[in-house]
Amino acid sequence: MTFEESHLHEQLLYNIQRCKYVKPTPVQKYAIPCILTGKDLMACAQTGSGKTAAFLLPIIHRMMTLPPLSSSSSSSASAQKRYNSRFSSRSTQFLWKTGMRSVVVYGGANAGLQLKELSYGCDLIVATPGRLLDFIDSGKVSVESTQFCALDEGDRMLDMGFMPQIQDMIRNMPRKGVRQMLMFSATFPSEIQQLAQEFLNGDYLFLA
Ligand code: AMP
Repeated sequence: MTFEESHLHEQLLYNIQRCKYVKPTPVQKYAIPCILTGKDLMACAQTGSGKTAAFLLPIIHRMMTLPPLSSSSSSSASAQKRYNSRFSSRSTQFLWKTGMRSVVVYGGANAGLQLKELSYGCDLIVATPGRLLDFIDSGKVSVESTQFCALDEGDRMLDMGFMPQIQDMIRNMPRKGVRQMLMFSATFPSEIQQLAQEFLNGDYLFLA
């Protein structure tokens, strides 16, 4: 698969060109089509493999082309189904969203400034787990209408002792099948396998 054959939105293809990415890395080649199907994914990927673009490109594509979740997750699930049946074959021509705002949230930096950025609203939060959980626990951020969640470097999160908090956070998200959950890890210790078992939809794809 080339980027041109990936079915990613043309705006993304343009930005890929601007980054001077000529061809997809192996993890991108396999993960991008999987994620575009809407299924959950567990992928084995090392740092430096291009895994960040492997999950961000298809997530952004889907954010551009899928309707947002409404407050009721069951009605949004059926809205998505209706949307998929009407537009799946030409989804890249039908845009729900073009301008997107992201906010970065991480520990060791001024929380007030991060909250101010969040208060303007955002589509995408790039976060380390500790600081994000502080914001969730204090009611400043809600993950209840999250459509996509990518857990990167799962084994490192485990080594750093973040598993219980990550479990808490995912339990606050919409149920399996409504959210799309992607997990990336360089290794697969039993705790990571258990996490996949608990939080990935039964028909999830595994990329080794
Ligand atoms: P990552 O593994 O996500 O940390 O990415 C490692 C580096 O590879 C980053 O500097 C990316 O900008 C770069 N990169 C990602 N995808 C590609 C690609 N298809 N071609 C060339 N460089 C890439």
